Amino acid sequence: MSLKRALSADLKPATDAVRICILGGGFGGLYCALALHQRLKQSPRPIHITLVEPRDRFNFTPLLYELLTQELAPWEIAPAYRELLKHTNLDLRQDWAEHIDLTQQSVTLRHGEPIPYDYLVVALGSQMRPPTTPGSQTHSLPFNTLHDAEQLERRLNDLEQSPKVRVVVAGAGPSGVELACKLSDRLGSRGHVTVVDRRSEILRSYPQRIQRAAARALAKRGIEVYLDAAIEAVDASGLTFGYEGQTHHCPADVTLWTVGTVPRSWLGNNAPKLTPLGQCPVRPTLQLPNYDNVFVLGDMAAMPAPGRDSQSDPSRNRAPTTAQAAYQAGPAVAHNLLALIANRPLKPFVYNHLGDMLTLGQREAVVCGFGLCITGRLGAVSRRWAYWLRLPTHAHRWRVLKHWLGLRS
Ligand SMILES: Cc1cc2nc3c(=O)[nH]c(=O)nc-3n(C[C@H](O)[C@H](O)[C@H](O)COP(=O)(O)OP(=O)(O)OC[C@H]3O[C@@H](n4cnc5c(N)ncnc54)[C@H](O)[C@@H]3O)c2cc1C
Repeated sequence: MSLKRALSADLKPATDAVRICILGGGFGGLYCALALHQRLKQSPRPIHITLVEPRDRFNFTPLLYELLTQELAPWEIAPAYRELLKHTNLDLRQDWAEHIDLTQQSVTLRHGEPIPYDYLVVALGSQMRPPTTPGSQTHSLPFNTLHDAEQLERRLNDLEQSPKVRVVVAGAGPSGVELACKLSDRLGSRGHVTVVDRRSEILRSYPQRIQRAAARALAKRGIEVYLDAAIEAVDASGLTFGYEGQTHHCPADVTLWTVGTVPRSWLGNNAPKLTPLGQCPVRPTLQLPNYDNVFVLGDMAAMPAPGRDSQSDPSRNRAPTTAQAAYQAGPAVAHNLLALIANRPLKPFVYNHLGDMLTLGQREAVVCGFGLCITGRLGAVSRRWAYWLRLPTHAHRWRVLKHWLGLRS
């Protein structure tokens, strides 16, 4: 039998195998799949895991900005799924899931055969907030994926031929602030970077220490920040916004759109009733109400986090829509799936907020957690290592580490 034949035969589910289907190979789905794979021996029955993901590379989004300053290379932060999963027997389908039939227990794909399942994990993440500002879709660039970073890179390469490059960033949330600082450092004296936001403060949901560090980093780079500014339109010449009772036009060679994301919609007509923020309600075990065999996690799910600051903002008793939360939920779902299969009690998901980290330019970051706040170069080193620890698979971490230490492969 040829090796290829042997491998594909291996990936056919054994007739008595429990079929787990995972939709989405991001922080929630991929880390759930890897945790399941590691613990397969704990299962009393054979398990067949199918992972459905349309992209060919995992995107480690928190480190996406480092591509713009060439501090990191695409292979480090966006490893190919085939490479990551090559020593596992996970059945990877590079395809879009299009419909979930909760009654028939089956997922329809855009291209491939439908996938029948015994247990389903849904982790489809977020997507850009549907644009309502005239021109924003046509005349601005998003920054959410490796593909977006590559698109921006090509645009910057063209623009860098001219002596002046004007960048406007719409949104002063984490993406807007991190992008603005990185781009300012990349462009140096030829760059002019402006940030515009309708809110009255930058990094609204972050602790004050982080806000202050970010404000200093923006000011140090001469980045202009307009807050309480109502963005009215984007066109090929830049961004128009209302500010202090007047209409301003900020000329731009490139406009970046970072004004937020919304959870991806449920796939199919038997959608659960979503929360006001558009997330799926889930039980403390991350199971879908009424469907014991379906788990939802990551940005799509209103994952409980009791005890967070829920007095000032009711959405705060939910885990945040971050990689940190999805990364913790993946292994928690893997644990509960195995418990369900083995007829053991399930555990509630406990979100553990480990702190906040933001890059604030080339070799500069702020890292706050456990009562400590580190900034500058030391912050950048701490952030880099904290993320290194969370890269997927030992093999990939080892490859990256050898590269950083200058060791030959
Ligand atoms: C630029 C950027 C920087 C960020 N920085 C940070 C940070 O510093 N710290 C932090 O904690 N969080 C950060 N985040 C947020 C973080 O990326 C998300 O919260 C996290 O990825 C959510 O995990 P998830 O598994 O829910 O979704 P994702 O990681 O987005 O994974 C969803 C996956 O589902 C796939 N998918 C979508 N539709 C389908 C379909 N129909 N069928 C099959 N697959 C599908 C997608 O291709 C994707 O791979 C950042 C996000 C961005 C965009």
